[in-house]
Amino acid sequence: MRSLFGPVYSRRLGLSLGVNLFKENICSYDCVYCECGRTKVLTTKRDEYFELNDVLFEIKQYLSENCLKIDHITFSGRGEPTLYLYIEKLLEEIKRFPVASALLTNSSLLNDKEVRKSILGFDVIMPTISTVDQNQFNTIHRPAKGIRLFDILEGVKVFSKMYRGLFIPEIMIIKDVNDSEKSLAGLIEYIKELDYKGCHLNTIVRPAAYSDYKGINKEEINRIKNFLEKNDIRCIDADSAISKAKIGYSDERLINTLLVRPVHESDIKSIFKDPQIAIVGINKLLDNHSINKEKGFFKIS
Ligand code: SF4
Repeated sequence: MRSLFGPVYSRRLGLSLGVNLFKENICSYDCVYCECGRTKVLTTKRDEYFELNDVLFEIKQYLSENCLKIDHITFSGRGEPTLYLYIEKLLEEIKRFPVASALLTNSSLLNDKEVRKSILGFDVIMPTISTVDQNQFNTIHRPAKGIRLFDILEGVKVFSKMYRGLFIPEIMIIKDVNDSEKSLAGLIEYIKELDYKGCHLNTIVRPAAYSDYKGINKEEINRIKNFLEKNDIRCIDADSAISKAKIGYSDERLINTLLVRPVHESDIKSIFKDPQIAIVGINKLLDNHSINKEKGFFKIS
């Protein structure tokens, strides 16, 4: 399996090439909302989960031909990217190309000095911070043994003050878990202590790892956004990204993406420069059962 997927259209980052550093779902959390499925290996151990030279080769090969066609190269995928021991080395290589780098992190390792240092070079970092309540945290993220919310909150605070790029906390809202104003009150006080650009609000929109948990609707998102803003928390519209480029369709590109996450049919027009060609290709993959479609999402069968 390859480590690159996409590019996929991201509401936040435009056309984004994904870097996945794990051969299976390996993470420090087992979030109820994870769109990659349930975590297979729950761990806080940093390691070379994908061979460094293979990842470097793929990144260099892709960027030398396509770096001007994408908005960001984004570390995300089937696990927490900071568990990858050589993340700094990968970032160094990416910096040789004219493309912005982004990291989506669950924040669990930000209390580690080495981890903080290794990710300072990213242009954009989006750390997940959904609650300051340990019980809610356990319910939402189902963390590996030994992870304490208190340590994470401290680590995020320290990092936000030393980091010079765009620091955009992402608040994941789960219905009936952390969606009340009472739950958000503590989080508001915490966020005020951070150096941040603005917060993104997110909720479950794709098929999730634990189907008992649900997202909230648009009206509820707006209610929470208004509540945060009334309390002086800056929010950034999740649809604010402007994509500068689109890419050509290939079966391989689509399948590599679906191996990591489902893609909604409404995203096809934003990703591929000729959606008609993409639709013909996708229909063939559906006909021969290489992929399937469920509730508007294309997935691997
Ligand atoms: S959502 Fe992210 S942090 Fe949570 S289990 Fe999935 S990969 Fe890990």
